[in-house]
Amino acid sequence: MTRLHCSDALLPDGWARDVRLHLDANGHIERIETDVAAEAADERLPGPALPGMVNVHSHAFQRLIAGYTDIAEDPTDSFWSWREAMYRAALALDADAFEAVCRHVYIEMLRAGYTSVGEFHYVHHQPDGQPYPQAAELGLRALRAADASGIGVSMLPVLYRHSGFGAQPPTPGQRRFIHDVDAYLALHAALEEATRSRPRATMGIAFHSLRATTAADITRVLAALPGDLPVHIHVAEQQPEVDACLEWSGQRPVAWLLDNLPVDGRWCLIHATHLDDHELAGLAERGPVIGLCPTTEANLGDGIARAEEMAGRAVPLAIGSDSHVSLSVSEELRWLEYGQRLVSGRRNRMTRPDQAIVGEQLYMSAAEAGARATGQPVGRIEAGRRADLLVLDPDDPLLAACPPAHRLNRWLFAAGERAIRQVRVAGATVVDDGHHPQAAEAAEAFHPVCRDVLYRE
Ligand SMILES: [Zn+2]
Repeated sequence: MTRLHCSDALLPDGWARDVRLHLDANGHIERIETDVAAEAADERLPGPALPGMVNVHSHAFQRLIAGYTDIAEDPTDSFWSWREAMYRAALALDADAFEAVCRHVYIEMLRAGYTSVGEFHYVHHQPDGQPYPQAAELGLRALRAADASGIGVSMLPVLYRHSGFGAQPPTPGQRRFIHDVDAYLALHAALEEATRSRPRATMGIAFHSLRATTAADITRVLAALPGDLPVHIHVAEQQPEVDACLEWSGQRPVAWLLDNLPVDGRWCLIHATHLDDHELAGLAERGPVIGLCPTTEANLGDGIARAEEMAGRAVPLAIGSDSHVSLSVSEELRWLEYGQRLVSGRRNRMTRPDQAIVGEQLYMSAAEAGARATGQPVGRIEAGRRADLLVLDPDDPLLAACPPAHRLNRWLFAAGERAIRQVRVAGATVVDDGHHPQAAEAAEAFHPVCRDVLYRE
């Protein structure tokens, strides 16, 4: 049994004082006491504690090209030209390099306050497109990287078959991604077995997009796998994708998805940037989580999601760092709010009638939605959940004098990452004073991969 004591903790119904968490042997919270003085048997947390944030959408290898493609080469630069650079990086990585990138990225995530991650994993095969002798090789490498870093992980192996709507054949640049349904199910089984022995790992199901799969394939996969696994899919990220879907089906992508597939609360739609009123109403009715990735969506010029309207209709919104152009909980949430301010010309958009503090509303709703969308028992400090915790720095100049209600605003809108003092996963300290014990070694292994993939003459 571990006992953690903190002067302040953000519980589901607000800040509590003098809180003791009783953890079981797996680092899950068994019981919470409030208004109790610390005792000798307690481990003291060094500041106010929050639930750790869930990163609902990650392609870890894409960190390689973060900040690499922001050079104007063509006036029509867009998501699609960025994707060419992403494909080149995906084709260049061997398994060791892939694992090195994942480990470095997961450590950076922990330092940023993300305590678990949904890895939307679609690079499966060898660089020539042939399966690895062990077909799940790269997924297993991502799990190993997660083990080494200490982060919680939801492995979301991706079914990817086609290059465009209407089952168009894949392009050569997509050769590492491609499975048929039987091979996908075998991959899923291998990764599921690998997660069974890992206490912080869970499984989900992922379909790359409506461009890359068909309703028949999705239906077969869903029928073959357990009905309680989360289901993730990219949808309506880009206007050209909406146009292509209209041309193919006569419907917009979210409308088509809602009409043709059993979307419900176990689904997580990534992006859903482009919605008309009918689609927005459909999402509110069917109840999927929406995984927004504001810094990636901004970097790629996707557009600004109708987040305020979704939140207003109780659609749960989670956050992901996706391409990892930014690895910062504060920046991701800040841009979620700022996008709505820029569009509306008004301030303080992501609130609720019963929660006027923007930072607290953004943070707590994203943590809870992320937990639901990844099947991780996290997102709140409450009995039954894993003790994934983030401890703010009580000495930060912006936080030291502020009352509890202002802490998250001060952190998220102003102080940024420096305000994170400690990060814990399942009760164990993984980042202390900004330091992760393996960060330097992992960065050293990342550098040559960057050099070889991007900068070799
Ligand atoms: Zn993505």
